Amino acid sequence: MAGSTATEHADVVIVGAGHGGAQAAIALRQNGFEGRVLVIGREPEIPYERPPLSKEYLAREKTFDRICIRPAQFWEDKRVEMRLSSEVVSLDPAGHTVKLADGSEVGYGKLIWATGGDPRRLSCMGADLAGVHAVRTKEDVDRLMRELDAGAKRAVVIGGGYIGLEAAAVLTKFDVNVTLIEALPRVLARVAGEALSEFYQAEHRAHGVDLRTGAAMDCIEGDGTKVTGVKMADGSVLPADIVIVGIGIIPCIGPLITAGASGGNGVDVDEFCRTSLPDVYAIGDCAAHANDFADGAVIRLESVQNANDMGTTAAKDICGAPVPYKATPWFWSNQYDLRLQTVGLSTGHDNAVLRGDPATRSFSVVYIKQGKVVALDCVNMVKDYVQGKKLVEARAQIAPELLADASVPLKEMIQG
Ligand SMILES: Cc1cc2nc3c(=O)[nH]c(=O)nc-3n(C[C@H](O)[C@H](O)[C@H](O)COP(=O)(O)OP(=O)(O)OC[C@H]3O[C@@H](n4cnc5c(N)ncnc54)[C@H](O)[C@@H]3O)c2cc1C
Repeated sequence: MAGSTATEHADVVIVGAGHGGAQAAIALRQNGFEGRVLVIGREPEIPYERPPLSKEYLAREKTFDRICIRPAQFWEDKRVEMRLSSEVVSLDPAGHTVKLADGSEVGYGKLIWATGGDPRRLSCMGADLAGVHAVRTKEDVDRLMRELDAGAKRAVVIGGGYIGLEAAAVLTKFDVNVTLIEALPRVLARVAGEALSEFYQAEHRAHGVDLRTGAAMDCIEGDGTKVTGVKMADGSVLPADIVIVGIGIIPCIGPLITAGASGGNGVDVDEFCRTSLPDVYAIGDCAAHANDFADGAVIRLESVQNANDMGTTAAKDICGAPVPYKATPWFWSNQYDLRLQTVGLSTGHDNAVLRGDPATRSFSVVYIKQGKVVALDCVNMVKDYVQGKKLVEARAQIAPELLADASVPLKEMIQG
Protein backbone atom coordinates (compact mmCIF):
# COMPACT_ATOMS: atom_id res chain seq x y z
CA MET A 1 0.00 0.00 0.00
CA ALA A 2 2.89 2.31 -0.80
CA GLY A 3 1.92 5.94 -0.91
CA SER A 4 -1.64 5.40 0.42
CA THR A 5 -2.97 8.08 2.76
CA ALA A 6 -6.11 6.14 3.60
CA THR A 7 -6.71 4.95 7.13
CA GLU A 8 -8.59 1.91 5.88
CA HIS A 9 -7.30 -0.76 3.53
CA ALA A 10 -8.79 -3.78 1.76
CA ASP A 11 -6.85 -6.30 -0.28
CA VAL A 12 -9.50 -6.13 -2.98
CA VAL A 13 -11.94 -3.25 -3.31
CA ILE A 14 -14.82 -3.86 -5.70
CA VAL A 15 -16.67 -0.75 -6.82
CA GLY A 16 -20.25 -1.55 -7.81
CA ALA A 17 -22.50 -4.09 -6.07
CA GLY A 18 -24.23 -5.37 -9.19
CA HIS A 19 -23.89 -8.54 -11.24
CA GLY A 20 -20.20 -8.22 -12.03
CA GLY A 21 -19.15 -7.01 -8.59
CA ALA A 22 -21.05 -9.81 -6.85
CA GLN A 23 -19.61 -12.48 -9.12
CA ALA A 24 -16.07 -11.16 -8.72
CA ALA A 25 -16.40 -11.44 -4.93
CA ILE A 26 -17.86 -14.95 -5.20
CA ALA A 27 -15.10 -16.04 -7.60
CA LEU A 28 -12.35 -14.62 -5.37
CA ARG A 29 -13.48 -16.84 -2.52
CA GLN A 30 -14.06 -19.82 -4.83
CA ASN A 31 -10.48 -19.46 -6.03
CA GLY A 32 -9.11 -19.45 -2.51
CA PHE A 33 -8.59 -15.74 -1.95
CA GLU A 34 -8.33 -15.19 1.80
CA GLY A 35 -7.72 -11.43 2.02
CA ARG A 36 -10.15 -8.66 2.90
CA VAL A 37 -12.76 -8.08 0.18
CA LEU A 38 -14.77 -4.87 0.35
CA VAL A 39 -17.63 -4.13 -2.07
CA ILE A 40 -18.61 -0.46 -2.30
CA GLY A 41 -22.03 0.05 -3.91
CA ARG A 42 -24.04 3.15 -4.63
CA GLU A 43 -27.46 1.52 -4.28
CA PRO A 44 -28.82 0.69 -0.81
CA GLU A 45 -29.54 -2.98 -1.62
CA ILE A 46 -27.29 -6.01 -1.52
CA PRO A 47 -26.55 -7.26 -5.06
CA TYR A 48 -29.68 -8.23 -6.95
CA GLU A 49 -30.49 -9.44 -10.45
CA ARG A 50 -31.30 -6.63 -12.81
CA PRO A 51 -33.09 -8.56 -15.63
CA PRO A 52 -36.26 -9.21 -13.56
CA LEU A 53 -36.71 -5.45 -13.13
CA SER A 54 -38.38 -5.27 -16.55
CA LYS A 55 -39.86 -8.77 -16.25
CA GLU A 56 -40.98 -10.71 -13.16
CA TYR A 57 -40.33 -7.99 -10.58
CA LEU A 58 -42.28 -5.35 -12.49
CA ALA A 59 -44.97 -7.96 -13.16
CA ARG A 60 -45.04 -8.67 -9.39
CA GLU A 61 -44.35 -12.32 -10.00
CA LYS A 62 -41.15 -12.18 -7.95
CA THR A 63 -40.49 -10.30 -4.73
CA PHE A 64 -37.18 -8.60 -4.04
CA ASP A 65 -35.97 -11.52 -1.88
CA ARG A 66 -36.25 -13.76 -4.91
CA ILE A 67 -34.10 -11.58 -7.10
CA CYS A 68 -31.18 -11.14 -4.70
CA ILE A 69 -28.06 -12.71 -6.20
CA ARG A 70 -27.33 -14.28 -2.80
CA PRO A 71 -29.03 -13.86 0.60
CA ALA A 72 -27.41 -11.34 2.98
CA GLN A 73 -26.11 -14.19 5.14
CA PHE A 74 -24.05 -15.55 2.24
CA TRP A 75 -21.95 -12.40 2.07
CA GLU A 76 -21.32 -12.55 5.80
CA ASP A 77 -20.39 -16.21 5.64
CA LYS A 78 -17.95 -15.52 2.81
CA ARG A 79 -16.50 -12.48 4.61
CA VAL A 80 -17.40 -10.19 1.75
CA GLU A 81 -18.05 -6.78 3.27
CA MET A 82 -20.76 -4.66 1.67
CA ARG A 83 -20.54 -0.91 2.03
CA LEU A 84 -23.82 0.17 0.49
CA SER A 85 -25.32 3.59 -0.29
CA SER A 86 -21.72 4.66 -0.87
CA GLU A 87 -20.34 6.11 -4.06
CA VAL A 88 -16.72 6.16 -5.15
CA VAL A 89 -16.04 9.59 -6.60
CA SER A 90 -12.34 9.44 -7.43
CA LEU A 91 -9.26 7.31 -7.29
CA ASP A 92 -5.58 7.88 -6.90
CA PRO A 93 -3.86 5.14 -8.89
CA ALA A 94 -0.38 5.92 -7.56
CA GLY A 95 -1.53 5.88 -3.95
CA HIS A 96 -3.88 2.91 -4.56
CA THR A 97 -6.73 4.76 -2.90
CA VAL A 98 -10.37 5.43 -3.68
CA LYS A 99 -12.31 8.35 -2.31
CA LEU A 100 -15.96 8.08 -1.38
CA ALA A 101 -18.67 10.73 -1.63
CA ASP A 102 -18.59 11.16 2.18
CA GLY A 103 -14.91 12.16 1.94
CA SER A 104 -13.51 8.95 3.40
CA GLU A 105 -10.71 7.07 1.65
CA VAL A 106 -10.02 3.38 1.29
CA GLY A 107 -6.71 1.93 0.19
CA TYR A 108 -6.70 -1.11 -2.09
CA GLY A 109 -4.30 -3.80 -3.15
CA LYS A 110 -6.36 -4.55 -6.27
CA LEU A 111 -9.37 -2.60 -7.48
CA ILE A 112 -12.23 -4.05 -9.54
CA TRP A 113 -14.36 -1.41 -11.24
CA ALA A 114 -17.82 -2.91 -11.78
CA THR A 115 -20.06 0.12 -12.01
CA GLY A 116 -22.30 -0.69 -14.98
CA GLY A 117 -23.96 2.31 -16.55
CA ASP A 118 -26.49 5.03 -15.92
CA PRO A 119 -29.58 5.19 -18.11
CA ARG A 120 -29.17 7.56 -21.02
CA ARG A 121 -31.53 10.46 -20.44
CA LEU A 122 -33.55 12.45 -22.91
CA SER A 123 -32.07 15.85 -23.58
CA CYS A 124 -35.39 17.48 -24.48
CA MET A 125 -37.71 19.72 -22.51
CA GLY A 126 -39.69 17.89 -19.84
CA ALA A 127 -37.18 15.06 -19.44
CA ASP A 128 -37.04 15.64 -15.66
CA LEU A 129 -40.77 15.78 -14.99
CA ALA A 130 -42.27 13.45 -12.40
CA GLY A 131 -43.70 10.43 -14.16
CA VAL A 132 -40.71 10.04 -16.49
CA HIS A 133 -38.97 6.78 -15.61
CA ALA A 134 -35.84 4.81 -16.32
CA VAL A 135 -35.73 1.07 -15.64
CA ARG A 136 -32.28 0.41 -14.24
CA THR A 137 -32.58 0.04 -10.47
CA LYS A 138 -35.00 -1.41 -7.95
CA GLU A 139 -35.73 2.15 -6.87
CA ASP A 140 -36.70 3.10 -10.46
CA VAL A 141 -39.11 0.20 -10.69
CA ASP A 142 -40.58 0.69 -7.21
CA ARG A 143 -41.37 4.28 -8.15
CA LEU A 144 -42.97 3.14 -11.40
CA MET A 145 -45.05 0.53 -9.58
CA ARG A 146 -46.28 3.14 -7.08
CA GLU A 147 -47.58 5.25 -9.96
CA LEU A 148 -49.30 2.24 -11.48
CA ASP A 149 -50.91 1.54 -8.10
CA ALA A 150 -52.03 5.16 -7.96
CA GLY A 151 -53.98 4.62 -11.18
CA ALA A 152 -51.67 5.45 -14.08
CA LYS A 153 -53.40 4.02 -17.14
CA ARG A 154 -51.61 5.53 -20.14
CA ALA A 155 -47.96 4.83 -20.75
CA VAL A 156 -45.62 5.93 -23.49
CA VAL A 157 -42.47 3.85 -23.81
CA ILE A 158 -39.63 5.57 -25.61
CA GLY A 159 -37.21 3.13 -27.21
CA GLY A 160 -37.80 -0.24 -28.84
CA GLY A 161 -34.85 -2.09 -27.33
CA TYR A 162 -35.24 -5.09 -25.04
CA ILE A 163 -35.96 -3.13 -21.89
CA GLY A 164 -38.64 -0.95 -23.48
CA LEU A 165 -40.29 -3.94 -25.14
CA GLU A 166 -40.25 -6.01 -21.96
CA ALA A 167 -41.71 -3.18 -19.91
CA ALA A 168 -44.41 -2.64 -22.55
CA ALA A 169 -45.32 -6.34 -22.42
CA VAL A 170 -45.67 -6.26 -18.63
CA LEU A 171 -47.73 -3.07 -18.61
CA THR A 172 -50.31 -4.59 -20.95
CA LYS A 173 -50.98 -7.21 -18.26
CA PHE A 174 -52.06 -4.41 -15.94
CA ASP A 175 -54.51 -3.00 -18.49
CA VAL A 176 -52.37 0.01 -19.17
CA ASN A 177 -52.74 1.57 -22.62
CA VAL A 178 -49.22 1.42 -24.02
CA THR A 179 -47.78 3.36 -26.91
CA LEU A 180 -44.20 2.47 -27.81
CA ILE A 181 -42.21 4.79 -30.02
CA GLU A 182 -38.99 3.87 -31.76
CA ALA A 183 -37.05 6.40 -33.81
CA LEU A 184 -35.49 3.78 -36.11
CA PRO A 185 -37.50 1.99 -38.80
CA ARG A 186 -37.80 -1.15 -36.65
CA VAL A 187 -37.48 -2.27 -33.03
CA LEU A 188 -34.33 -4.12 -31.90
CA ALA A 189 -32.58 -2.68 -34.95
CA ARG A 190 -29.18 -2.60 -33.26
CA VAL A 191 -29.22 -6.13 -31.96
CA ALA A 192 -31.30 -8.34 -34.25
CA GLY A 193 -32.23 -8.99 -37.86
CA GLU A 194 -35.38 -7.85 -39.59
CA ALA A 195 -37.30 -11.11 -39.19
CA LEU A 196 -37.04 -10.92 -35.41
CA SER A 197 -37.96 -7.23 -35.33
CA GLU A 198 -41.02 -7.83 -37.48
CA PHE A 199 -42.10 -10.77 -35.35
CA TYR A 200 -41.90 -8.76 -32.12
CA GLN A 201 -43.60 -5.76 -33.66
CA ALA A 202 -46.53 -7.97 -34.68
CA GLU A 203 -46.69 -9.61 -31.24
CA HIS A 204 -46.83 -6.29 -29.43
CA ARG A 205 -49.49 -4.97 -31.75
CA ALA A 206 -51.51 -8.16 -31.29
CA HIS A 207 -51.35 -7.52 -27.53
CA GLY A 208 -52.75 -4.05 -27.99
CA VAL A 209 -49.56 -1.97 -27.93
CA ASP A 210 -49.70 1.03 -30.25
CA LEU A 211 -46.21 0.47 -31.62
CA ARG A 212 -44.83 3.18 -33.86
CA THR A 213 -41.52 2.90 -35.67
CA GLY A 214 -39.69 5.71 -37.43
CA ALA A 215 -41.39 7.90 -34.83
CA ALA A 216 -39.52 11.07 -33.90
CA MET A 217 -40.43 12.80 -30.66
CA ASP A 218 -40.05 16.45 -29.84
CA CYS A 219 -40.37 16.81 -26.06
CA ILE A 220 -42.21 15.71 -22.94
CA GLU A 221 -45.19 17.82 -21.96
CA GLY A 222 -46.34 18.37 -18.41
CA ASP A 223 -48.66 20.38 -16.22
CA GLY A 224 -45.76 22.11 -14.47
CA THR A 225 -44.87 19.20 -12.23
CA LYS A 226 -46.01 15.97 -13.77
CA VAL A 227 -45.88 14.48 -17.24
CA THR A 228 -49.06 14.72 -19.32
CA GLY A 229 -47.86 13.52 -22.70
CA VAL A 230 -45.17 13.12 -25.31
CA LYS A 231 -45.14 15.65 -28.12
CA MET A 232 -44.09 14.17 -31.42
CA ALA A 233 -42.09 15.90 -34.15
CA ASP A 234 -45.23 16.17 -36.28
CA GLY A 235 -46.92 18.20 -33.55
CA SER A 236 -49.26 15.47 -32.33
CA VAL A 237 -49.31 14.64 -28.63
CA LEU A 238 -49.49 11.16 -27.11
CA PRO A 239 -51.26 11.55 -23.75
CA ALA A 240 -49.40 9.84 -20.91
CA ASP A 241 -49.58 9.36 -17.15
CA ILE A 242 -46.18 7.71 -17.23
CA VAL A 243 -43.29 7.75 -19.68
CA ILE A 244 -40.65 5.02 -19.68
CA VAL A 245 -37.35 5.88 -21.30
CA GLY A 246 -35.30 2.92 -22.53
CA ILE A 247 -32.67 4.39 -24.80
CA GLY A 248 -29.52 2.73 -23.57
CA ILE A 249 -26.91 3.44 -20.94
CA ILE A 250 -23.80 5.52 -20.48
CA PRO A 251 -21.02 3.60 -18.73
CA CYS A 252 -20.13 4.94 -15.26
CA ILE A 253 -16.42 5.45 -15.79
CA GLY A 254 -15.82 9.11 -14.94
CA PRO A 255 -13.48 8.59 -11.95
CA LEU A 256 -11.39 6.00 -13.82
CA ILE A 257 -10.95 8.14 -16.90
CA THR A 258 -10.13 11.19 -14.78
CA ALA A 259 -7.49 9.09 -13.05
CA GLY A 260 -5.89 8.38 -16.43
CA ALA A 261 -7.37 5.05 -17.50
CA SER A 262 -7.56 4.55 -21.22
CA GLY A 263 -11.09 4.41 -22.59
CA GLY A 264 -13.92 6.24 -24.25
CA ASN A 265 -17.16 4.37 -24.58
CA GLY A 266 -16.19 2.19 -21.62
CA VAL A 267 -12.87 1.56 -19.91
CA ASP A 268 -10.42 -0.34 -22.08
CA VAL A 269 -9.45 -3.71 -20.66
CA ASP A 270 -7.22 -6.52 -21.85
CA GLU A 271 -8.16 -10.21 -21.98
CA PHE A 272 -7.68 -10.48 -18.21
CA CYS A 273 -9.92 -7.44 -17.59
CA ARG A 274 -6.94 -5.30 -16.59
CA THR A 275 -7.23 -1.59 -17.31
CA SER A 276 -4.25 0.57 -18.22
CA LEU A 277 -3.93 1.58 -14.54
CA PRO A 278 -1.81 -0.66 -12.31
CA ASP A 279 -3.82 -3.16 -10.23
CA VAL A 280 -7.12 -1.83 -11.55
CA TYR A 281 -9.56 -4.14 -13.34
CA ALA A 282 -12.85 -3.25 -15.02
CA ILE A 283 -15.69 -5.69 -15.70
CA GLY A 284 -19.24 -5.88 -17.00
CA ASP A 285 -21.23 -3.21 -18.80
CA CYS A 286 -18.53 -0.56 -18.30
CA ALA A 287 -15.63 -2.58 -19.77
CA ALA A 288 -14.61 -2.18 -23.42
CA HIS A 289 -12.80 -5.26 -24.66
CA ALA A 290 -11.68 -6.90 -27.89
CA ASN A 291 -14.23 -9.66 -28.40
CA ASP A 292 -13.48 -12.72 -30.54
CA PHE A 293 -17.15 -13.07 -31.39
CA ALA A 294 -17.05 -9.57 -32.89
CA ASP A 295 -13.96 -10.41 -34.97
CA GLY A 296 -11.76 -8.76 -32.37
CA ALA A 297 -13.60 -5.42 -32.43
CA VAL A 298 -13.51 -3.48 -29.18
CA ILE A 299 -17.03 -3.52 -27.77
CA ARG A 300 -18.98 -3.31 -24.56
CA LEU A 301 -21.47 -6.06 -23.86
CA GLU A 302 -24.45 -5.39 -21.65
CA SER A 303 -25.41 -8.80 -20.38
CA VAL A 304 -25.39 -10.91 -17.26
CA GLN A 305 -23.19 -13.44 -19.04
CA ASN A 306 -20.53 -10.85 -19.73
CA ALA A 307 -20.63 -9.34 -16.23
CA ASN A 308 -20.37 -12.75 -14.59
CA ASP A 309 -17.66 -14.13 -16.84
CA MET A 310 -15.59 -10.97 -16.57
CA GLY A 311 -16.00 -11.05 -12.78
CA THR A 312 -14.56 -14.55 -12.77
CA THR A 313 -11.76 -13.55 -15.15
CA ALA A 314 -10.63 -10.65 -12.94
CA ALA A 315 -10.86 -12.77 -9.78
CA LYS A 316 -8.78 -15.57 -11.29
CA ASP A 317 -6.11 -13.14 -12.41
CA ILE A 318 -5.96 -11.69 -8.90
CA CYS A 319 -5.66 -15.22 -7.50
CA GLY A 320 -2.68 -15.93 -9.75
CA ALA A 321 -4.57 -18.32 -12.05
CA PRO A 322 -5.15 -16.15 -15.11
CA VAL A 323 -7.51 -17.41 -17.82
CA PRO A 324 -8.19 -15.06 -20.74
CA TYR A 325 -11.75 -13.93 -21.31
CA LYS A 326 -13.11 -15.88 -24.29
CA ALA A 327 -16.67 -16.52 -23.20
CA THR A 328 -19.43 -17.09 -25.73
CA PRO A 329 -21.96 -14.23 -25.52
CA TRP A 330 -25.52 -15.18 -24.62
CA PHE A 331 -28.60 -13.26 -23.66
CA TRP A 332 -32.31 -13.72 -23.12
CA SER A 333 -35.49 -11.68 -23.16
CA ASN A 334 -39.00 -12.54 -21.95
CA GLN A 335 -41.99 -10.85 -23.53
CA TYR A 336 -45.53 -12.20 -23.09
CA ASP A 337 -45.19 -16.00 -23.31
CA LEU A 338 -42.17 -15.72 -25.60
CA ARG A 339 -38.71 -16.63 -24.42
CA LEU A 340 -35.99 -15.35 -26.69
CA GLN A 341 -32.52 -16.81 -26.26
CA THR A 342 -29.61 -15.39 -28.16
CA VAL A 343 -26.14 -16.81 -28.59
CA GLY A 344 -23.22 -15.16 -30.37
CA LEU A 345 -23.21 -11.65 -31.81
CA SER A 346 -25.15 -10.93 -34.98
CA THR A 347 -23.59 -7.52 -35.62
CA GLY A 348 -22.36 -7.24 -39.19
CA HIS A 349 -24.09 -10.41 -40.43
CA ASP A 350 -24.57 -10.60 -44.19
CA ASN A 351 -27.24 -13.31 -44.25
CA ALA A 352 -30.03 -14.34 -41.90
CA VAL A 353 -31.70 -17.74 -42.26
CA LEU A 354 -35.13 -18.40 -40.83
CA ARG A 355 -35.66 -21.85 -39.24
CA GLY A 356 -39.31 -22.64 -38.65
CA ASP A 357 -42.38 -20.51 -39.07
CA PRO A 358 -42.78 -17.38 -36.91
CA ALA A 359 -46.55 -17.90 -37.15
CA THR A 360 -46.11 -20.94 -34.86
CA ARG A 361 -44.37 -18.64 -32.32
CA SER A 362 -41.48 -21.07 -32.15
CA PHE A 363 -38.62 -20.47 -34.55
CA SER A 364 -34.99 -19.40 -34.87
CA VAL A 365 -32.96 -16.99 -36.94
CA VAL A 366 -29.43 -18.09 -37.79
CA TYR A 367 -27.04 -15.24 -38.61
CA ILE A 368 -24.22 -15.80 -41.06
CA LYS A 369 -21.18 -13.66 -41.74
CA GLN A 370 -18.86 -14.51 -44.59
CA GLY A 371 -20.28 -18.00 -44.76
CA LYS A 372 -19.90 -18.73 -41.03
CA VAL A 373 -22.58 -19.04 -38.36
CA VAL A 374 -22.03 -16.14 -35.94
CA ALA A 375 -25.24 -15.99 -33.90
CA LEU A 376 -28.74 -17.35 -33.34
CA ASP A 377 -31.92 -15.78 -32.03
CA CYS A 378 -34.20 -18.55 -30.81
CA VAL A 379 -37.82 -17.86 -29.88
CA ASN A 380 -39.43 -20.59 -27.78
CA MET A 381 -36.84 -22.90 -29.31
CA VAL A 382 -34.51 -24.11 -26.55
CA LYS A 383 -33.12 -26.97 -28.63
CA ASP A 384 -31.83 -24.68 -31.35
CA TYR A 385 -30.31 -22.40 -28.73
CA VAL A 386 -28.42 -25.21 -27.00
CA GLN A 387 -27.30 -26.89 -30.20
CA GLY A 388 -26.70 -23.64 -32.07
CA LYS A 389 -24.20 -22.52 -29.43
CA LYS A 390 -21.82 -25.17 -30.74
CA LEU A 391 -22.23 -23.91 -34.30
CA VAL A 392 -21.39 -20.38 -33.18
CA GLU A 393 -18.37 -21.51 -31.20
CA ALA A 394 -17.11 -23.52 -34.19
CA ARG A 395 -17.94 -20.70 -36.64
CA ALA A 396 -19.50 -23.56 -38.58
CA GLN A 397 -19.88 -23.25 -42.32
CA ILE A 398 -23.21 -24.81 -43.24
CA ALA A 399 -25.29 -24.32 -46.35
CA PRO A 400 -28.12 -21.84 -45.67
CA GLU A 401 -30.65 -24.26 -47.23
CA LEU A 402 -29.69 -26.90 -44.68
CA LEU A 403 -29.85 -24.43 -41.78
CA ALA A 404 -33.33 -23.45 -42.94
CA ASP A 405 -34.57 -27.04 -42.72
CA ALA A 406 -36.09 -27.10 -39.24
CA SER A 407 -36.65 -30.85 -39.48
CA VAL A 408 -32.87 -31.40 -39.25
CA PRO A 409 -31.52 -30.81 -35.72
CA LEU A 410 -28.61 -28.36 -35.62
CA LYS A 411 -26.47 -30.87 -33.75
CA GLU A 412 -26.57 -33.17 -36.76
CA MET A 413 -25.23 -30.38 -38.93
CA ILE A 414 -22.18 -29.84 -36.79
CA GLN A 415 -21.46 -33.55 -36.67
CA GLY A 416 -21.66 -33.57 -40.45
C1 LIG B 1 -34.23 -3.74 -16.80
C2 LIG B 1 -33.05 -4.54 -17.26
C3 LIG B 1 -33.26 -5.78 -17.86
C4 LIG B 1 -32.18 -6.53 -18.30
N1 LIG B 1 -32.41 -7.76 -18.85
C5 LIG B 1 -31.35 -8.54 -19.18
C6 LIG B 1 -31.56 -9.87 -19.67
O1 LIG B 1 -32.68 -10.31 -19.84
N2 LIG B 1 -30.46 -10.63 -19.93
C7 LIG B 1 -29.19 -10.16 -19.75
O2 LIG B 1 -28.23 -10.88 -19.99
N3 LIG B 1 -28.98 -8.89 -19.31
C8 LIG B 1 -30.02 -8.09 -19.02
N4 LIG B 1 -29.79 -6.82 -18.56
C9 LIG B 1 -28.41 -6.31 -18.49
C10 LIG B 1 -27.71 -6.76 -17.23
O3 LIG B 1 -28.52 -6.57 -16.11
C11 LIG B 1 -26.42 -5.98 -17.12
O4 LIG B 1 -25.64 -6.28 -18.24
C12 LIG B 1 -25.67 -6.34 -15.84
O5 LIG B 1 -26.41 -5.93 -14.71
C13 LIG B 1 -24.30 -5.68 -15.85
O6 LIG B 1 -23.66 -5.91 -14.64
P1 LIG B 1 -22.62 -4.86 -14.08
O7 LIG B 1 -22.07 -5.45 -12.83
O8 LIG B 1 -21.71 -4.46 -15.14
O9 LIG B 1 -23.48 -3.58 -13.74
P2 LIG B 1 -24.71 -3.42 -12.76
O10 LIG B 1 -25.39 -4.71 -12.50
O11 LIG B 1 -25.51 -2.30 -13.32
O12 LIG B 1 -24.05 -2.96 -11.39
C14 LIG B 1 -23.32 -1.77 -11.27
C15 LIG B 1 -23.53 -1.19 -9.89
O13 LIG B 1 -22.52 -0.22 -9.63
C16 LIG B 1 -23.09 0.89 -8.98
N5 LIG B 1 -22.23 2.06 -9.17
C17 LIG B 1 -22.09 2.83 -10.28
N6 LIG B 1 -21.16 3.79 -10.07
C18 LIG B 1 -20.70 3.62 -8.81
C19 LIG B 1 -19.74 4.30 -8.02
N7 LIG B 1 -19.04 5.33 -8.51
N8 LIG B 1 -19.54 3.88 -6.75
C20 LIG B 1 -20.23 2.83 -6.25
N9 LIG B 1 -21.14 2.13 -6.97
C21 LIG B 1 -21.37 2.52 -8.24
C22 LIG B 1 -24.43 1.00 -9.66
O14 LIG B 1 -25.31 1.80 -8.90
C23 LIG B 1 -24.86 -0.46 -9.74
O15 LIG B 1 -25.49 -0.87 -8.56
C24 LIG B 1 -30.87 -6.04 -18.12
C25 LIG B 1 -30.66 -4.78 -17.54
C26 LIG B 1 -31.74 -4.05 -17.11
C27 LIG B 1 -31.51 -2.70 -16.47
